[in-house]
Amino acid sequence: MLSDSEVRRVLVITAHPDDVDFGAAGTIAGWTDAAVSVVYCIVTDGDAGGQDESVPRAEMAPLRRKEQTAAAACVGVHDLRFLGYPDGRVEATLGLRKDLARVIRQVRPDRVVCPSPERNYARLGVSHPDHRAVGSAALDAIYPDARNPFAFPELRTEEGLEPWTVREVWLPGGPSPDHYVDVTGTFDRKVAALRAHESQTGHMENLPEFLRGWLARAAAQGGLPEGHLAEMFQVIDTG
Ligand SMILES: [Zn+2]
Repeated sequence: MLSDSEVRRVLVITAHPDDVDFGAAGTIAGWTDAAVSVVYCIVTDGDAGGQDESVPRAEMAPLRRKEQTAAAACVGVHDLRFLGYPDGRVEATLGLRKDLARVIRQVRPDRVVCPSPERNYARLGVSHPDHRAVGSAALDAIYPDARNPFAFPELRTEEGLEPWTVREVWLPGGPSPDHYVDVTGTFDRKVAALRAHESQTGHMENLPEFLRGWLARAAAQGGLPEGHLAEMFQVIDTG
């Protein structure tokens, strides 16, 4: 596994606004504190999310972009790329692979965080179909598309984007976590980031307690000392 000091840039690819904050915001706050540059790429605008039926659906996409932008700022991330795919209908198409390969070649990350393409039978919500589709397309974009000069050659000839090899992938929420990051010190910023998704978490009065319980269980599973909190990932060498 790469040490964080070897990582200059991280690209986080997610399906929906708020996914990154549930899965990885505490870890990301630690990275930005260590001067790692982090970029978010969010495939949909989450326009099928939220509980409040009085909010017109057309207003949901701009609202959720605004919320995700505010949430990102809580953990030191200020570069966000929204791809604008329709929420709830994402498929791992060649078109999505190309769009993700483009962003990878633009950002040139050492490490990518993306959803697991596998269904997690222990936590069904984390394997939403959009998450699995984005995870599958992202891994295909990492290998082989972004690194292969002959994959989507127009990215190079028309857009001037040279091939790029991502060295490592971190999958939050998958069925086989093998790496636990201590987020005890960044927990408050993770909560603030999730609170910024007002349309999604505004009704969750017990959000900090819920998160604390969830992250404490992850910490225990990862063998961290009592009282610590952790986010968990499966780490894949893609170099
Ligand atoms: Zn989601």
